[in-house]
Formats: sequence, C-alpha cells, structure tokens
Amino acid sequence: MEIATRIQAVNPSATLQITARAKSMRKSGIDVVNFGAGEPDFNTPQQINDAAIKAINDGFTKYTPSTGIPELKEKIAKKLKEENNLEYLPEQIVVSCGAKHSLFNLIQVIINKNDQVIIPSPYWVSYTEMVKLAQGKPVIIETRQKDGFKIDIEKLKKKINASTKLIILNSPSNPCGVLYSREELQKIAEVCIENNLFIISDEIYEKIIFDDAVFTSLASLSKEIYDLTLTVNGVSKSFSMTGWRIGYFAGPKEISNAVSRLQDHSTSCPSSVSQRAALAALGLDSNYFSSLRSKFQERRDFIISYLDEKLGDFVSYVKPQGAFYIFVNISKTKLDSFNFAKRLLEESYVAVIPGKPFGCDSWIRISFATSMEEIKKGLERLELFFIKLKTEKLTQI
Ligand code: PMP
Ligand code: GLU
Repeated sequence: MEIATRIQAVNPSATLQITARAKSMRKSGIDVVNFGAGEPDFNTPQQINDAAIKAINDGFTKYTPSTGIPELKEKIAKKLKEENNLEYLPEQIVVSCGAKHSLFNLIQVIINKNDQVIIPSPYWVSYTEMVKLAQGKPVIIETRQKDGFKIDIEKLKKKINASTKLIILNSPSNPCGVLYSREELQKIAEVCIENNLFIISDEIYEKIIFDDAVFTSLASLSKEIYDLTLTVNGVSKSFSMTGWRIGYFAGPKEISNAVSRLQDHSTSCPSSVSQRAALAALGLDSNYFSSLRSKFQERRDFIISYLDEKLGDFVSYVKPQGAFYIFVNISKTKLDSFNFAKRLLEESYVAVIPGKPFGCDSWIRISFATSMEEIKKGLERLELFFIKLKTEKLTQI
C-alpha cells in the first residue's frame, strides 16, 4: 500500500523525535541532560489542575461547541483586549487542540495548491511541513546572524509575487528568541497591507521576554493590519500546559467560520476538561508571569555567560530576547547539525535539536526549559565535547 504523496513529502518533527528519545534514554536509566524539549519543566499551576479535577467531578466530560466553550472564548477576548490591545468578538475566536492545531487549521483554510507562503528562517520546524500538507509552497526568506535574525524588508518585498498568499511571523521566535519591536512590526505590516497578504502572528512565547523588552501584538498596530492578521496563541508555554492541548486563534470572521467547519469534521472540539483548565489559567494574576519570566531570565543569563567565558572560541549566538531557546552557531566544527547532535547525545548524553529542520545546518538549538542544575551539567558536558572534537581535529581552532 502506498502512502498518499502529500504525506510522503512531510518530514517527521525533529523537536518531538529528539525530545522523545531523550526522555526514553532517561527512563532507561541514562543520565541525559535534555536541552531538546520545547516545554517548560515546571508543573502546571495547582489552581489550573484543581479546575480540571472539578470539571471531571462535575461531569463536564462531554462534547463542547466545536470552536470552544463560550466562557473560554469570552475570557480569551478579554485577555486579548487587556493584554494585547486587540478587540476581538468571541465569534472571531476558535479554540483548538494546541496552537499547532490552530496553525494547521489556518493554513488549511487559507492555502490553495501552489499558493506561496513566506517563512523567515530560522523557522519553527512545523511551519514548512504544514504548508506542504496544504499543498502550498514554503518560500524561505533567510535572515542573518549579523541582523539579529530579523527580516530584511527589501528581501521580503522581492519574495512577493502573484502567488504569495501568506507570511508566517513568530515573535518571540523559536528557535532563536528574536523579538520584533513595534517599529519593525510596522514595516512588515506595511508590506502586507500594500500587497494584501494575510499574516499569521504566532505569539505563543509572548509572556517569556527578557530585560526591558516590550511585546507588541502585530494586529494592534492599525485597522488595516488587524484585518489581515491571524493572531495565534495558547496556554502551553505560558502556563506549562503542553500536554493539555489548548491553543486558539483570533481573526476575521470569515476565517473563523471556515476553521469552525474544518474543526466540525476533524476534531469535533478541544477536550472539555482542558478548556476548563485553560479558563482557570487565563484567570491567574500577573505576578505569575513575573515569576515565570525571572526564572527563564536567570537561566538565559547563566547560559550566555557560560558560552562567552568557556565556549567563546567554539561557538557564537544571537542573544535571545524572548522564548526559552538559544540558537548556537557550530560552524567552527566540521560536523553538520545532525551529526553534531547525534554524537553529543550518544557520547556526552546531552540532547539538543539540530538546526537543519529549522533551516540552518550549522546551528543547534538549546532549550533552557530545564532546571539550573541540569543546565550547569549540560554546559559542562558540552564544553568537554568541544574539547574532544578539538583533539580529533574536528574544529577549526
Ligand atoms: N508555535 C511555536 C513557535 C512553537 O514553538 C510551538 C511549540 N510546540 C507551537 C506554536 C505550538 O504549541 P502548542 O501546540 O503546544 O500550543
Ligand atoms: N514547539 C516545541 C519545540 O519546538 C515543542 C515540540 C513541537 O511541537 O515541535 O520543541
């Protein structure tokens, strides 16, 4: 039996595969440091767990409306208004099984065969595959380390043609923690408006930003860009709820109607219990976020000092302004990113994600969604691994 051609072209998710491998090595007793996982190591806050337990005990265990329960959509609309300066009606919002599912749905309803989707690289591994699944064409716009991995507007303009339908923007970004300023977003918005292009603004890491960084929601910039923007978010990263699978998008009514029909015939609805949990999550006060942010900031700062002081000869990076990843340039080694990650895992028991599936083969992604103790141990092992590569003459220093 032949698998459908549309699926044959799709790559497995390196982030999920390596994370699963590291977890299973750990389970079998190997002391692996997991820098692979794109999920916070903290437990889901107790109030959220309690709301879910109550939902189960109250018998809230049946199908819900396919786009989500009204009270959750109202809470999301309130959150978007108060935190993001965005006016959405609950009818414009669709709750799905994770932001990944929201992104998948949006791409399915917007993209026709051969439509082009502009994706800045480095990009999160699933964007290109989702576009391929919709039979669209990912068009990669490369960004440079020396530009802080930010889009060059002139380059962006050159990529646009009659088949371009959509741009995918992720700020703060996975894998490099790039955060676009209001002014930078304004320039991207102008290009979208001029060319009448839809833009997905993946804001899943909005709460994890460092120093005095300020997060701006793209759709808040003007009425014109609001009409073209699909704002995607979810509870996975901000509330340590990766396994609960709740994400959402807000956008023009015609798009939410289309996604609603798609969801009717695919998942029926997101989990009822998880929706009640998400409702509780969105009710947590802002102190929760300041504590989350300071924990991640401490880890980011530690990693950066370590890389600068101990590994400066071997690697370089762009300082992340948000999210919980640092993208590290390993081009001074003679290994491609898959071989580097494979050897590092097998010989030094440190799991990282190779850069290739993010569009950059001389890079690796380190996730600092793990404890300080693990981070210290992992960095020491990474340092010894580089020294070993040097003795094998596998580095240029
Ligand atoms: N967008 C980005 C950039 C991500 O890194 C992730 C992580 N999986 C998601 C969306 C989806 O998150 P989830 O489906 O868990 O809400
Ligand atoms: N987004 C996370 C990551 O990049 C979780 C895994 C996934 O869904 O890809 O690692």
